[in-house]
Amino acid sequence: MNEHDSERMAGVLAAQGMTPARSDAEADVILLNTCAVREKASQKVFARLGVLRPLKIRRADLVIGVCGCVAQMEQGEIFRRAPHVDFVMGPRHLSSLAALVVAAKDRQAQLAVFDPRDRIIPEAPALALRSSRTRAWITIMEGCNKTCTFCIVPLTRGREACRAPESILEEAEDAASRGFPEVELLGQNVNAYRSGSWDFTRLLGAVTQVQGIRRVRFTTSHPLHFKNSIADLMGSRNNLCRYLHLPVQSGANRILARMRRGYTREEYVAKITYARSRVAGLALSTDIIVGFPGETVEEFESTLDLVREVRFDQIYSFVYSKRPDTPAASLDDDVQPGEKKARLHALQVLQDRIQHEILTECVGRIEEVLVEGPSAAGPRMLAGRTGSNRVVTFEGPIEWIGRVASVRITHALRNSLLGAVCEAATSLTSFRERDIYEVGLPSGGGFPS
Ligand code: SAH
Repeated sequence: MNEHDSERMAGVLAAQGMTPARSDAEADVILLNTCAVREKASQKVFARLGVLRPLKIRRADLVIGVCGCVAQMEQGEIFRRAPHVDFVMGPRHLSSLAALVVAAKDRQAQLAVFDPRDRIIPEAPALALRSSRTRAWITIMEGCNKTCTFCIVPLTRGREACRAPESILEEAEDAASRGFPEVELLGQNVNAYRSGSWDFTRLLGAVTQVQGIRRVRFTTSHPLHFKNSIADLMGSRNNLCRYLHLPVQSGANRILARMRRGYTREEYVAKITYARSRVAGLALSTDIIVGFPGETVEEFESTLDLVREVRFDQIYSFVYSKRPDTPAASLDDDVQPGEKKARLHALQVLQDRIQHEILTECVGRIEEVLVEGPSAAGPRMLAGRTGSNRVVTFEGPIEWIGRVASVRITHALRNSLLGAVCEAATSLTSFRERDIYEVGLPSGGGFPS
């Protein structure tokens, strides 16, 4: 979501006639879009501001803005710690960005943050300068009404506000007409989407029917709100990706209750079992926090046990980080840093093994790969994703970017797959006819990521 906010910020600036700069030294405006979810991410912002300071000393007309969740969290404190910052803009003020940049040129320090008591209206979309040539992110809702005790997001992004379905569908149609084959719907808790009689299932179904969209994804789902009807839809629409990110956070019921997640391990597993029964080949990923206050060794073992039971395709794992003003901040953060690290390592070693087994099972299969761009693996190498979100690298010309190719998987690497374009399709002509579907490319360049 942060990356997409950056695309929207770039879009606002582009509408003012600005163009992307290649380096900090070349730029007239530098914006840091920030994440506050973990302490480390917050700290990075001040470190980066320190690096930018000499530039501002050399060029007083350089505009530096701090945007996003750390901006909302720290507010005026940022000016105190980094007086060379011109403005601080929280995540729900994208529409103020152009005015803030102009005011900064007149040397006025500006603060644009929201009051959590404000009624928040979702911001108008449209202007995003997309960084991908193949995937269009679309924000469907902002904010989060959950009260997970570890999480700062409800404080930095505020209460939920959903965009009207018409506006979302219009953006999806616009993306399709510009040649984006893939749309990913974004929200902190997409399954809580509601607008009049529209719920998330209805919205998702409507997006899959937009002409020209070959792949639809969504993130993130909260297990409490993930309905069976979504799994039913995933099983019945072939352009809805067979991939689900469902953050579980812990495998121990006592910890889940202390996190105020609202589900038990058994309920989580039941949702996954149902989804797997409806969606053949469903790939699953999750988020896990280790070392939450009070987590015992046995409770951590329960998390490992859950990971063995579910066999996720991918896990995003984090050491618990105490965040200011969250309910868990008042709990004793009693798992020692060394122990937290050791738990993270044990979890990652287990997951690496499972992941490798899952990827090895893919060898020999033929997968439809949406080519996203050149791969760093070598010259003439391309990287793309399968419908189940697995990254595949294979050889081919860059003209294939944005198309879907049939690729035979030849090797399993640590986090991705290596493949070769199907033998039957070695000649480009027959390949075009048989296995590549022209999906077109957006005109004009994207914004460098
Ligand atoms: N609503 C989003 C949350 C985004 S934060 C979602 O459900 O995905 C992404 C992940 O960061 C969370 O799922 C959680 O695993 C992790 N996280 C959030 N707060 C954290 C904290 N205080 N310490 C460590 N990890 C945290």
